[in-house]
Amino acid sequence: MPMSFAPLAALENTAEFLPRHIGIAAADEAHMLSVVGAASRRALIDATVPRSIARSRPMELPAPASEAQALAELKAMAAKNQVLKSFIGQGYYGTHTPGVILRNVLENPAWYTAYTPYQAEISQGRMEALINFQTMVCDLTAMQIANASMLDEATAAAEAMALAKRSVKSQSQRFIVSGDTHPQTIEVIQTRAAPFGIEVVVTASPQAWADALDGDYFAALAQYPASSGRIDDLRADVTKVHARQAAFIAAADLLALTLITPPGEWGADIVVGCTQRFGMPMGAGGPHAAYMACRDEFKRSLPGRLVGVSVDAHGDPAYRLALQTREQHIRREKATSNICTAQVLPAVVASMYAVYHGPMGLQRIAQRVASFTAVLAQGLAQLGVKVRAQGCFDTLYLETDEATELIANSAVSAGVNLRNHSNNALSIALDETTTRADIALLWQIFAAEGQTLPTFEAFERGVKPLIPAALRRTSTYLTHPVFNTHHSETAMLRYIRQLSDKDLALDRSMIPLGSCTMKLNATSEMIPITWPEFAHIHPFAPADQLQGYHELDAQLRAWLCEATGYAAVSLQPNAGSQGEYAGLLAIKAYHDAQGASHRHICLIPASAHGTNPASAQMAGMEVVVTACDARGNVDMADLQAKCEQYSQHLACVMITYPSTHGVFEAQVKELCALVHQHGGRVYVDGANMNALVGLAAPGEFGGDVSHLNLHKTFCIPHGGGGPGVGPVCVVADLAPYLPGHATAGRESGVGAVSAAPLGNAAVLPISWMYIRMMGAVGLQQATEIAILSANYISARLKKHYPTLYAGGTDNSGHVAHECILDLRAFKDSSGVMAEDVAKRLMDYGFHAPTLSFPVPNTLMVEPTESESLHEIDRFIDAMIAIRAEIAQIENGTWPQDNNPLKNAPHTAASLLEDDWDRPYSRALAAYPVAALRQHKYWSPVGRVDNVYGDRNLFCSCLPVHSND
Ligand SMILES: *Cc1c(COP(=O)(O)O)cnc(C)c1O
Repeated sequence: MPMSFAPLAALENTAEFLPRHIGIAAADEAHMLSVVGAASRRALIDATVPRSIARSRPMELPAPASEAQALAELKAMAAKNQVLKSFIGQGYYGTHTPGVILRNVLENPAWYTAYTPYQAEISQGRMEALINFQTMVCDLTAMQIANASMLDEATAAAEAMALAKRSVKSQSQRFIVSGDTHPQTIEVIQTRAAPFGIEVVVTASPQAWADALDGDYFAALAQYPASSGRIDDLRADVTKVHARQAAFIAAADLLALTLITPPGEWGADIVVGCTQRFGMPMGAGGPHAAYMACRDEFKRSLPGRLVGVSVDAHGDPAYRLALQTREQHIRREKATSNICTAQVLPAVVASMYAVYHGPMGLQRIAQRVASFTAVLAQGLAQLGVKVRAQGCFDTLYLETDEATELIANSAVSAGVNLRNHSNNALSIALDETTTRADIALLWQIFAAEGQTLPTFEAFERGVKPLIPAALRRTSTYLTHPVFNTHHSETAMLRYIRQLSDKDLALDRSMIPLGSCTMKLNATSEMIPITWPEFAHIHPFAPADQLQGYHELDAQLRAWLCEATGYAAVSLQPNAGSQGEYAGLLAIKAYHDAQGASHRHICLIPASAHGTNPASAQMAGMEVVVTACDARGNVDMADLQAKCEQYSQHLACVMITYPSTHGVFEAQVKELCALVHQHGGRVYVDGANMNALVGLAAPGEFGGDVSHLNLHKTFCIPHGGGGPGVGPVCVVADLAPYLPGHATAGRESGVGAVSAAPLGNAAVLPISWMYIRMMGAVGLQQATEIAILSANYISARLKKHYPTLYAGGTDNSGHVAHECILDLRAFKDSSGVMAEDVAKRLMDYGFHAPTLSFPVPNTLMVEPTESESLHEIDRFIDAMIAIRAEIAQIENGTWPQDNNPLKNAPHTAASLLEDDWDRPYSRALAAYPVAALRQHKYWSPVGRVDNVYGDRNLFCSCLPVHSND
C-alpha cells in the first residue's frame, strides 16, 4: 500500500464518461497506429486533416462532468420548466404511455438503436410494427394507403400540398386553407409555398371558406375537427373541390376518427395528422409521428417511407421498404420530397398503443374524452359561460369577451393552461388523462364567487356526446387480429419482444454504416428524455413555463456554435433534410434581401447525398450537377467553369465535408473562396461532422451554412429511422434568416419549418448530455479515434478489398472517418455484387455497411469511436472470411448462382430442411467462423425479393391465412 492514494481530483474522475463512450482502450491504440503506419495519433491526424483548415483555437466548452453530475445539472435545468395541466390542445394532448410500451419500446435500446430498415431481412420486427402503423392509419382515416410516418403534422400538411400540386389536373397556383386550422400548420404551409410561387389563401370565416371554394385553386385543406373544436360536415365542400379537378386535404385527429365519420368516407383525397396522443408525451412539441394517407391513384408519388409486403427467397412473406425508386437517393432533384430520417420510433410507439388498446380500448378512451367534454360544456353553460354551440369531440370554444385575460390568468394560478385565441375567446381541449377532478377544477375557475358548482350526478348513467348525429362513425376499424390479441400486459410484453428479437440493432453488434455515424447512445444521455419536466409540457405553454427548455436551447446552440465555428444556430429542423431546406431558404432569403432574387442556381457535386438536390428543389433553386475527379474530389476545373458560366445566377454550392467519398479534400478553402468570388454562398453538409469536431470548423474554413445531424454526430439514436434533429448553423449575416415561429411569438425572415418552435425538443437533452460529459478534449478525442478506427479498417482490409478513395496531406493514403471498400471487380470475377456481401454479413451477425452510396457496388464503412478493437477485428475477420468465400467462386468450387453469398442470409428453417442440395455444408452456411457457435443471430427471413414487392404493392397487415 502506498502512503497515500491518488490525488482527489483523479479519484473524483469527472472525465469518467470518456472511456465509456470511446471503445478503443489506450493499450489498443498503439497497435492500431502501427497497423496504420503512424507514429502517434497526432501524426496520423496531421497526415490526414489538411493543415489549412485546422481550427484557430480549441473549442471553449465546460470541463467534462461525470454522468451523475451532468444528470444533476440537467435535472436542475429541467426543474425550471413548470408542468401545468394542459388544456391547450392545438394538436398536442396529454396521453398515458402504457408502461409496457414506455419501458420496452421507448426506453429500450433494441428499438431505439436500430437503423432505418434498408436491410430488410434484419429489420422485420420494426417493419411489422410500421405495417401495423400504416394499417392503423388506413383503418382510422378510411383511406387506401398510408406511409410509415411524417416529421410532424404541419410538414405533413405542406407535403400534402406538394403532393396535390403534382397529382391534380387543375393548373391553378392557389391553395385554400381553412382559417380554423392549427396556426402552426398554416405557418409551415406558407413557408413551403413561397419558393414555388403558390398563393396560400387562408379563409377568415366559414363564409370566406365557402366563397373561396367557388373560386380557382388546385387544392383545399381543412382541419377535422377544426382547430377551435368544431366538427363540420365537409361533404358538400369535397364535391365542390372535385368539380374543379382539385384535391381535398383533411388534417384529421385519429382519436376523434374512432367516433366520427372518417375523411375517406366523405371523399377526401389526402389525409394528414399526428399520432402524438397515441402514447407519445407532448415533449414541448416532438418527436411525434405524423401520418399521411391518400387515395390509391396517388400512391406512387406519396412522400416518405412506405413499408410493403413482398416474398423472400423461400416464397414466404417478408416486409421491405416499397417503391424505393421514389426516394431522393435515386430521384434526387426530381424526388417527391427530401424526407430521409422520419419518425420511426414514435410511429412504433403509436402503433403499439393501438395494438395494446385495440379498437374497443381506443373507442372507450375516445368516448371518455367526448363524454367529459359534454359534461364540462353543460356545467359551464350552467355557470353562465358562453359555450359556442357546435358539434365537437374534445374541444370547447368559449366566448369569454373582456374576461378572457382574467380567466386565463386565474387558470394558470390554479395550475391549468387554457388556449387563448386572442380574439376574446378561450378554448379547452380534453384528453385521455382528464379526470373528474380536472373537470371540477375547470368549473371552479369559471365560476363567479359564491356560485353553486355543477356536479356529476346527472351524468352518471351516460352522457349525450356533442358529436353531430349525421357524422357518427358507423364503420369498423382495426379488425385485424394483431389489434385484437395482445391486450394483456403479458401478451403485449411478449409481442414487443418477439418483434425486437427479429432485428439487428446496436445492442447486438456494430452497425458500420458510412455517412450515418452509428455511435454509442449512452443510457445517461437517454434517461432525461422521459423526465416529466421535459416530457409533459405543451410547446405553446406560456413562455415563462418553458424556462428549462429555453436554457437547454441556448446552451446547446452556444456549444454547437463552438463546435462548428458559426455565429448562430436554430434547433428547429427535425431532420438533417429539414436543416438543409432551412439553410437553403436562408441563402435564398439573403439573396432576395440583397435584391438578387435572380440568384437561383445551386451547384451540387455528383457524389452528394440525395437529400441535397431534393432540398434545393424544395427551396426553389435549380440544381446543376458538377463532376468529381478520378480521386473522388470535387473536380475544381469543372466547378470553376460552372461558377463562371452561372456567375450572375449563382445562389450557392452545396458540398459535403469531408466528402461523401470519405476524404478530406485539401482544396476546400480555395473552393469556398471561388464560390464567394462569384457572389454565391457555400453550404457545407455537416453529416460528416464526426470527422471534424475539435479539429476543424466549417464556419472557419469558408462555409456559410451547415446542418448537423444530432442523430449522427451528437448521439441521438437513430430510432429505426427517426427521430432526428438537424440544427441549421449560419454565419452572422445569415442569422436573420434562420427559421422563426410566429405562432410561438418569434417572427423571422423565412417563417417556420417545423410545427413546434424547438422541433423535436424532447430529444435535445441527449446531445446536451453528450457534450456536457465529453468536454472539448473528449469530443476532439472522439473525432481522432473515429479517424484512427476507419484508417485501421482500411489498412487491414487493403489486401482483400481496396479502399476506393484515399487522401491525406502528403498522399499518405489516409481516409477520414469512413472508407469506401471497392467490390466492383467481383462482378466479373465471380458474379458477386456488394449486395451479396451485405447479405452474407448477416449470417456473420453484422449489419451491412452503407451499400452502393455514393458509388454503386461498393460498401462504405464507418466504425465510429465507440466500437472496441475486438468488435472492429471481428468485423474485419468476417470481411476477410467472405473474401475467401468469393475466392471459392472465382476458382470454380462453387457456381456463381449457388454459393453462400448468393443464398444469404440463411434462415434456420432453410438449413433444417430434409434435403440439402447446396454445394456447401449447412455448418458453413450458419457458422462460417467458430465464434458464431457461441453467439448467433438468425435472420428471420431469406433474401427479400424487391421487384415482386413493387409489382404487387401491398402495404397493410397481412391477412392471417398468408402467415401460415
Ligand atoms: C444522413 C445524411 C443526410 C440527411 O439527414 P436526415 O437526417 O436523414 O434527413 C444528408 N446528407 C448526408 C451526407 C447524410 O449522410
